[in-house]
Amino acid sequence: MPTQASNRQEHPRAAVFLDRDGTIIEDRGDLSDPAQVVFFKDTVPALRRLAEKFALFVVTNQSGVAKGTITIEDVQRVNDYVEKYLAINGAPIAATYVCPHQRYSDCQCIKPNPYFLKKAEREFGIDLRRSFVIGDHPHDVELATRVEATGIYLLSGHGMKHRADLPVQTIVVDGIREATEQVLTRGSGQQTERQTANWGASPATPER
Ligand SMILES: [Mg+2]
Ligand SMILES: [Zn+2]
Repeated sequence: MPTQASNRQEHPRAAVFLDRDGTIIEDRGDLSDPAQVVFFKDTVPALRRLAEKFALFVVTNQSGVAKGTITIEDVQRVNDYVEKYLAINGAPIAATYVCPHQRYSDCQCIKPNPYFLKKAEREFGIDLRRSFVIGDHPHDVELATRVEATGIYLLSGHGMKHRADLPVQTIVVDGIREATEQVLTRGSGQQTERQTANWGASPATPER
């Protein structure tokens, strides 16, 4: 049996890519200190359920670094705390990916560019097309679309603000608990024979 610890597995794992602010913790602007982190009450039970079947990643845009309002070390400290807290509570994060740039700088890692998802695909053997992205910004949904994963939009965080900007078919739910229900209903995280056959015929997702 493949174990969670091994990166290379016979059958690629599916993943859930989680936005950080407004998705697993409250969005309180640029966080510079772990003491500012407030987890949503549903986060731990939801992520613990997801972790049974999926590799979990956090993908976050932290433009405050480029703007000079926070440092990359601040972001790292906050992320280390988030990871440690979740690991202790039974929901280990495989990796946390941070884009520290501003949108106008046209970096390749800012969401919705799928740079970090491609990295997870390479480094953790993740099957992106059976994976999910959960977040409270249309960029999180677009991120999923770009790799043929499934995006789930949350109304927590800033979700209400951009709801009108979503593609009509977008899955929209209240928060991380409801998103987890959607993920567990739609995907098992395990590869089946039928899926293997179907996907074997599909062309690879192009790099962007
Ligand atoms: Mg967010
Ligand atoms: Zn970037």
